[in-house]
Amino acid sequence: AKKQGKNGYAFYDINLENESLEKRLLENAMRDAIINQQFYLEYQPKLNIKTGQLIGMEALVRWNHPVIGRIPPGKFIPLAEETGMIIPLGEWILKESCEQIVKWQEMGYPYLPVSVNVSVRQLDDNEFINKVEKILKETQINPAMLELEVTESVFADVKNAAEILQQIRNLGIQVSIDDFGTGYSSLTYIKHLPIDTLKVDQSFVKDIHVNEESRAIIKAVITLANSIGINVIAEGVEMKEHVVELVNEGCKLGQGYYFSKPLSVQDFEQFMQQHYRV
Ligand code: C2E
Ligand code: CA
Ligand code: CA
Ligand code: CA
Repeated sequence: AKKQGKNGYAFYDINLENESLEKRLLENAMRDAIINQQFYLEYQPKLNIKTGQLIGMEALVRWNHPVIGRIPPGKFIPLAEETGMIIPLGEWILKESCEQIVKWQEMGYPYLPVSVNVSVRQLDDNEFINKVEKILKETQINPAMLELEVTESVFADVKNAAEILQQIRNLGIQVSIDDFGTGYSSLTYIKHLPIDTLKVDQSFVKDIHVNEESRAIIKAVITLANSIGINVIAEGVEMKEHVVELVNEGCKLGQGYYFSKPLSVQDFEQFMQQHYRV
């Protein structure tokens, strides 16, 4: 990128230049990564925070590049969204998650629901519902064992967002609003949407034990959710103090480093053995 300097001469903005180069390199690398199986999933436990019972998991994508090493999703997901790579990648993530819960079921592990993050770009894809249906058919999972996590931005960026969420619901799949409270959708607006769960953003959980405002927000979300019959889960639960406050406010479900970080398939199996009581 050339910029016009004060004196009229052009100079290179080295940072900008590096940024776009890095982007293009990553974009190309991502194309190969799907084929070469460099992506894999980790699973973070979701628990009943009062009893410690394991109630489900969130699938989180990971990329281990043979040369670059581990690239965090915060870096490649936005780029995948920008370039459209999120469409094939997202489809792979969904299929892989469903196949994993079938595997665990066949191995005799508890049949637990898996939550899969879905980007706005995927929901905007006309083929999305067909792809989901195909995966349900191929894997034969009970659709109730699948939950899709979508962020609030869906309501700003996707045409007929409510209609698409309804179509997902009609397949028997659960819908959760991720990072709730950071976007613009109001609590009253939520009432009219086909959703099952609100996932309170971790920024409110982080300081719930010291910040009156965060506590008030979480309390309001729980009150509303209870009154219209939807679930609330807190994410980013890191400390005992968080758990205490959340239980105080009537929040039943949680996820975070306090309970467990996202785990490999093997480590999640161990976690299930330790934390699932029939
Ligand atoms: P997210 O969906 O809000 O996921 C939660 C993030 O918080 C994850 O980061 C998780 O590892 C992290 N986390 C879990 N517990 C704690 C905690 O107690 N404290 C803190 N500070 N963080 C915690 P991760 O895996 O790096 O993912 C970052 C974001 O990348 C995700 O945010 C999501 O927006 C996106 N992402 C990750 N996997 C996928 C995927 O499979 N598909 C799509 N579309 N996006 C994904
Ligand atoms: Ca999520
Ligand atoms: Ca989140
Ligand atoms: Ca997030």
